[in-house]
Amino acid sequence: MASVELRNLRKEYDRGTIVAVDDLDIEIEDGEFITVVGPSGCGKTTTLRMVAGLERPTSGSVIIGSEDVTDLHAKNRDIAMVFQNYALYPHKTVQANMEFGLRMSTDLSKEERREKVQWAAEMMGIENLLEDKPDELSGGQKQRVALGRAIVREPEVFLFDEPLSNLDAKLRKTMRTEVQRLQDELGITSIYVTHDQEEAMTMGDRILILRDGIKQQVGAPKEVYNNPKNEFVGGFIGSPSMNFVDVVVEQSDGGLVLAGIDEDFRYHLTPDVVDKFGVLESGGEYILGIRPEDVFPADGSERDTVSAVVEVVEPIGSDNYVYLDLSGELDTGLDGKDEIEFIARTDSAFEPETGEQVEVTFSDEDIHLFDPATGESVL
Ligand code: ATP
Repeated sequence: MASVELRNLRKEYDRGTIVAVDDLDIEIEDGEFITVVGPSGCGKTTTLRMVAGLERPTSGSVIIGSEDVTDLHAKNRDIAMVFQNYALYPHKTVQANMEFGLRMSTDLSKEERREKVQWAAEMMGIENLLEDKPDELSGGQKQRVALGRAIVREPEVFLFDEPLSNLDAKLRKTMRTEVQRLQDELGITSIYVTHDQEEAMTMGDRILILRDGIKQQVGAPKEVYNNPKNEFVGGFIGSPSMNFVDVVVEQSDGGLVLAGIDEDFRYHLTPDVVDKFGVLESGGEYILGIRPEDVFPADGSERDTVSAVVEVVEPIGSDNYVYLDLSGELDTGLDGKDEIEFIARTDSAFEPETGEQVEVTFSDEDIHLFDPATGESVL
């Protein structure tokens, strides 16, 4: 096992016209499980391939343990990689697939190799598949074999490139737990790439969010969720996405109000929230962020509420997604105006009708404010 450190890691393509990874710095602790998430093309796979030694960095370095492996060939790095497409040898049995890496990288005897494969197969619950060929297996079984092949070598580092993307939703959830169990039991430092923010949030000790090759934030899932460093992270993490409203701070009745710039939105701030943000002054413009799960139907006891018109109610079982229009008119979609959707994730008992005027509210502590020029959080 080993820590992994990326120092100013950079990858350019096409003579520098494409910067896939932009001077990435991160230290991953020995035994840590880190997930890497971001939209398509943000540099996740390129980062992983540079750690694996499959891609040569333009500049910067990769340190595994105390060794700088930047110039080391992939086969000399003590890592195992699991891919989305399993990458199994189709003509070899499961046993031979799992044994292959051991034959290449160790001088174990045949008997010792068999024992290791047996151990890994038991770990993955695939002992009864050892004589099968990959095309006789389901997607889930193939991925178990791929995981078994990765653990059999007991590498210092596991690299996962969207390993569960080809599986259906239910199997994906089961396999997530399996991967976590494996990592817990073996304690192998792991870097897990996914485009699925929910997967990243549930699996990682920490989560690294990339955009255009640039690190946006790294932190424990809760920390990133509760304190997004910028508007992008606020919008990317959480489902449905955080609501955003452009607001200006106004002086009103001796206090401060967040007033919608394009929307009919007014919300009185308490001294507590003004203190929290510290820098708020009349005339300042911000992007207000509120998560759908932090928006509640008002029950009359609130200090302040916001009026909205219900566009649609989408039941998802225990909860409802209530799509609201803050402009005060029902958005027919016919006027060509891009109405801002504001979503409340409410208890399923809240079932307003389409077109109904409702009052919603939220707590001061759930308010996020971002600088419209930089997108950075104002905290
Ligand atoms: P996805 O989620 O779609 O797999 P990703 O986050 O893994 O995306 P990368 O595959 O790392 O992103 O790509 C990052 C950027 O580098 C993209 O703009 C991509 O087009 C570019 N890129 C990747 N490989 C090459 C290459 N061999 N030549 C030129 N550009 C490349």
